Amino acid sequence: YAAKEVKAGAVVFQPEQHVTAPARLTVLGDLRRALDGTDELFLHYQPKYTLDGERIEGAEALLRWQHPTEGLIPPGDFIPAAEGTGIILRLTERVLDMALVQMRAWIDAGHPVPVAVNLSTRCLLDAGLPDLVQRLLAERRVPAELLRLEVTESAVMGDSARCMEVLQRLHVLGVRLSIDDFGTGYSSMSHLRRLPVDELKIDRSFVMGMTTTQHDAVLVRTAIDLGHNLGLTVVAEGVEGTEHVTALRALGCDIAQGYHYARPMGGERMSELLDRVGTIHDPRGSAATAS
Ligand code: C2E
Ligand code: MG
Ligand code: MG
Ligand code: MG
Repeated sequence: YAAKEVKAGAVVFQPEQHVTAPARLTVLGDLRRALDGTDELFLHYQPKYTLDGERIEGAEALLRWQHPTEGLIPPGDFIPAAEGTGIILRLTERVLDMALVQMRAWIDAGHPVPVAVNLSTRCLLDAGLPDLVQRLLAERRVPAELLRLEVTESAVMGDSARCMEVLQRLHVLGVRLSIDDFGTGYSSMSHLRRLPVDELKIDRSFVMGMTTTQHDAVLVRTAIDLGHNLGLTVVAEGVEGTEHVTALRALGCDIAQGYHYARPMGGERMSELLDRVGTIHDPRGSAATAS
């Protein structure tokens, strides 16, 4: 592991640190074991809010790994290693399945809330992905329209006819697609226009800097305008302060996600939140009053 002892019993993983070959093998071996089991890998959910903070529009599923000896390992510390191998496909299948089981439970509880799952670049190159998604949706009895898949800007800009075909087939299923971490890649307007996406998520680094750095403010404004001109919903990620909320509202941003609204949380807590706040998709159309 790329781990550093800080004090007795505490281990800090270094996301930026280069993972050496043996360390990577250990991570992958442990990950295989975790995938064979049922309790080490689980999801947290972070709600996405209307900018006024009054209603939930959706949620993002974020993978967590409770390692038996290393403790909670953040996704940035093991997903890159998994991406180098076929393990990422098994991991993605597990995440999709866990998210769909949770979605079914929320639907049954009266909250048909869209949930987003993150896809690695590698998955977009897998021609079997659309069939897998279709099978899991059917098995878990979740309407395709409620599932959202987030793909990074760089993943879809690396051209590839194969990736485009996978996206098209997912789109035909009715699954919604988002561009994640927008602003960190190099998309051209014309390429974006050809993608079957309907949401754009502005990377949190720009959102966090927008009230202090002119360059970030310009990027956020440009991304919102670009998204709207293409008919996309624009989401700001990493919204931490009220000053960001004010600025994003002034720019006409649609949806916000970040610690200002809520941190990622377990499914149970998310259920309570859905009961309390309500979603913009709930059948009765208005937030349930707190009980
Ligand atoms: P992401 O998709 O951009 O997810 C958002 C990340 O920002 C999450 O980190 C979330 O906890 C964090 N975040 C949300 N609001 C705030 C905020 O206000 N301030 C700050 N500082 N951070 C905020 P997390 O959960 O550690 O995930 C990191 C990345 O790992 C994700 O970035 C995503 O790229 C990847 N990831 C997570 N789960 C999965 C998965 O199931 N599959 C794949 N392929 N990647 C995943
Ligand atoms: Mg994401
Ligand atoms: Mg993101
Ligand atoms: Mg991001």
